[in-house]
Amino acid sequence: MDLKGTGDGVDCCISGAGPAGLMLGLLLARCGVRVTVVEKHVDFLRDFRGDTMQRSGMRLLDEIGLGGAFHAIPQRHMERLSFLLDEGEVNAADFTRLPGRKYKFASLVPQWDFLDLLRVTAEKEPGFELVRPAEVTGLLREGGWVAGLRYRDERGEEHEVRAHLTVACDGRHSAIRDQAGLIPVDAQVDVDCWWFQLPRLDTDPEGAGLLRVKGGEVLGLLDRGDFWQCGFFIGKGRDAAHRTQDVSYLRDRIGEFLPWLTDRVAGIDGWDDVKLLDVRLSRLRRWYRDGFLCLGDAAHAMSPAGGVGVNLALMDAAAAARILAEPLRERRVGRRELRQVQRRRRLPILVTQQMQRVLHKITLEPPAPGEEEKLPLMPRLMRRVPPLQVLPAALIATGVQQEHAPASARRD
Ligand SMILES: Cc1cc2nc3c(=O)[nH]c(=O)nc-3n(C[C@H](O)[C@H](O)[C@H](O)COP(=O)(O)OP(=O)(O)OC[C@H]3O[C@@H](n4cnc5c(N)ncnc54)[C@H](O)[C@@H]3O)c2cc1C
Repeated sequence: MDLKGTGDGVDCCISGAGPAGLMLGLLLARCGVRVTVVEKHVDFLRDFRGDTMQRSGMRLLDEIGLGGAFHAIPQRHMERLSFLLDEGEVNAADFTRLPGRKYKFASLVPQWDFLDLLRVTAEKEPGFELVRPAEVTGLLREGGWVAGLRYRDERGEEHEVRAHLTVACDGRHSAIRDQAGLIPVDAQVDVDCWWFQLPRLDTDPEGAGLLRVKGGEVLGLLDRGDFWQCGFFIGKGRDAAHRTQDVSYLRDRIGEFLPWLTDRVAGIDGWDDVKLLDVRLSRLRRWYRDGFLCLGDAAHAMSPAGGVGVNLALMDAAAAARILAEPLRERRVGRRELRQVQRRRRLPILVTQQMQRVLHKITLEPPAPGEEEKLPLMPRLMRRVPPLQVLPAALIATGVQQEHAPASARRD
């Protein structure tokens, strides 16, 4: 068995190299903290990831000197998120109405390119190490404290990383969070989401995020250049029943929702092209134990509604790095510091999850049997009072709290 960080170990080990784990690793390493990040996949190339970067994330990247490199990645800018209704188009969130001159849009960027930028930058820091592919399998304990983690490499060999602080950034299914006895509380969610792609033609709307609402279901489209990233929200738990039918069921539904897509629905060959996202909204009551902290989706699983999960994960990482960098270097992280991280991030998460619940409810409330379908409340309001379109835009773009990088991690 290999023992990484033997002796006094590393200052911090992180399970998971998603947005939260890599950003935290990079910021801490720039502050002189010795960090090991352990990631189970060999690369970042998975299509089941959130790709929306909001203003809060872009501002953080500017602070750490990565704004230019980020904007050099091919991306699409989305200025508005609109409802498509039988009655016409209504803006749900208008980013162009945001105050300030910079980032009056959301950016749609392949998450793997963004993560690779963080990785390459972090690997320039002498105190940073990324180990992959390596699956974290458990926690090391000493007395009542978490003292690091265990992982299995691609040859099946077991390793240990000893650390002063262990951080779970391994997403909504985090195994070490459960092992630490931290169990998330789920809010009731009535929807699941099918995630698939359709070709996009030059004649289609451009730079768009479109939401087609019909009969209590929503088809969302994000302009990704030569394809539409589509999310089709269905009733919770109804996926298996739908999949007993031919996939033409979905093709027909798309055609009913947006007839101009009919010419390309044949691109969905079968149900294998349609991934199911089990939509969850959950959060931990307590994010930490002695020697252990959860961040990002491991602490609070987000719905894809509004496309904010990546940004919240980045904000968690920035707040944690600012609060913990110095105590980590001095090896004196205790409950007080970990509690401070949770306190700092609790309200933004609560408010955003509440916004997502409202979004689910007011766009997806189906008409009662025998009742005529009427316009959902939210588009009705937005159409009547257009300046209101800035409110969802502001909540999505910066949320309740913009977090900043620690001073030692900033670059021009
Ligand atoms: C289909 C879908 C669409 C979404 N759309 C959007 C969107 O448009 N915009 C947006 O902002 N958010 C979106 N989200 C949410 C967003 O992807 C997440 O909120 C965000 O990625 C959370 O970041 P994270 O770093 O906390 O966790 P994750 O991104 O989940 O990263 C966790 C990392 O940990 C690794 N890992 C897991 N287990 C282990 C283990 N045992 N050992 C080692 N490594 C492990 C994983 O491989 C992964 O790399 C979407 C989510 C899904 C599923």
